[in-house]
Amino acid sequence: MTSRDKDGRRMKMKEILDEYKGKWNKKSYSIPNSDLEHLKEHLMEGRLENAQKRICLSLIQFANLESLCHLLEGEKQENLSSRLIFRLRESFPEYRMYTLSYDKILLYAEEVNEEYFCQVIRSYIMEQNSPLMIRELPFTIQHQAAVTEGSVSDSLDELMYRLHRTLDLVCKLGRNILRYQTEASNSVDRFYITLADIINGIKNEEFFLVYQPKVDCEDGSLKGVEVLLRWGRQEYQRLPIFEVIQMAEEMGLINFITEWIIDKVVTQQYVWQKSGIFVKTAINISVNDVTNPNLLRKMDHAIKGYSIKPEYFEIELTEHAIIKDEEYIFHTLRKFQQLGISVSLDDYGTGHNSLIYLLENKFRFDNIKIDKLFIAGIESHSMEALVSGIIEAAHGVQSKVIAEGVEKKAQADALKKLGCDTLQGYYYSKPLERKQFEVYYNLYENRHMIC
Ligand code: C2E
Ligand code: CA
Ligand code: CA
Repeated sequence: MTSRDKDGRRMKMKEILDEYKGKWNKKSYSIPNSDLEHLKEHLMEGRLENAQKRICLSLIQFANLESLCHLLEGEKQENLSSRLIFRLRESFPEYRMYTLSYDKILLYAEEVNEEYFCQVIRSYIMEQNSPLMIRELPFTIQHQAAVTEGSVSDSLDELMYRLHRTLDLVCKLGRNILRYQTEASNSVDRFYITLADIINGIKNEEFFLVYQPKVDCEDGSLKGVEVLLRWGRQEYQRLPIFEVIQMAEEMGLINFITEWIIDKVVTQQYVWQKSGIFVKTAINISVNDVTNPNLLRKMDHAIKGYSIKPEYFEIELTEHAIIKDEEYIFHTLRKFQQLGISVSLDDYGTGHNSLIYLLENKFRFDNIKIDKLFIAGIESHSMEALVSGIIEAAHGVQSKVIAEGVEKKAQADALKKLGCDTLQGYYYSKPLERKQFEVYYNLYENRHMIC
């Protein structure tokens, strides 16, 4: 962005901010504004263009703003609210934003995937943990959000009703963000998992790890395994582990879980190596783990404690995690590499800046894991060309390429032809429980699985 663009953007921000300030009714701090009317009009226009157009909405609330405002005088109350709104606007310039009251904002997006929309808002909320100084005391403004999707043809009243209902649930459950779910798909246990459930789950050994093999493209030998978490408790088995991880992130529990996984994996490595099983293990980490200074120390300590070579360990970080603070994240990842631990970029191609990571070479990932969405479509020419381009670009910056989600022989053949380095997916093996993996290893380690 040129400095002129930046100046322009700053001016625009100031304009917006002034506009909001002008709207406030200082006494009540609620805006009897016509923002929702504007949105209604926008939806009507959208309907005329394309009645099926998909939209996503998020109602974001500064949950503890009201009580914090009591600590402040009139003008400062306004300033605080405008700072929060300004920050939001600056972070989501691509979405429409409507101010419903001094502590409730509506974000509106068109033609965007709900999961992605939810993910960027979740990341934003997680970033708001740094405290603001109020009366010389540090306070964190707690953000909570509800998300729903629909089409421009849906009634705005219905969409707002859904958002308010979901936001009530967010507050009741002490969560940060939830997506609206219809009664039919509404799995109550999904909503009602609490912090205590997860902590007790770990204490009671309801969580366990599974291992999914990765194989060498050239000779079919076992290159390593990806470690994946599972929750064995009967009532939660239907719950995708990804959601449990997201909840743990929101509840501030992810560091606890990742540290638990590291302990398990390092101990497992020790036991395996003693019995002649030598296999590299890749651990998934979340962005909040990267910012946890204990993690690197813990990993280093555990590895040295058991005298295991660091090259038997790898960390996988999803591309979505690298939304903000890139420099800090890369700086921390470099420290893992300096210890001898490999670093992989997971879900490649699904994030914001996929190409930039390769083209600008800001950080040299040891592996780029191409997301399964691309692999699923690889039999089409355009997708094959795209995957080929990714492989070439990754090799250009000395990163190896792993394809995940390989389910068919035709996909494996296409990837081999394109020069991919490693393959992972149900075609080779589903994630295996420890004992199953040991059988797999003993059967296949010296007998290559693929030709
Ligand atoms: P991921 O890191 O991208 O993991 C790969 C996911 O794809 C796994 O789902 C795996 O079971 C699944 N998979 C593997 N091969 C195939 C295939 O051929 N086809 C299809 N359709 N799927 C395949 P899983 O175990 O449900 O994990 C989902 C996500 O949850 C993971 O995505 C990761 O983001 C997260 N996750 C799982 N375990 C952990 C963990 O220990 N820590 C953290 N931070 N995240 C985890
Ligand atoms: Ca992964
Ligand atoms: Ca992945």
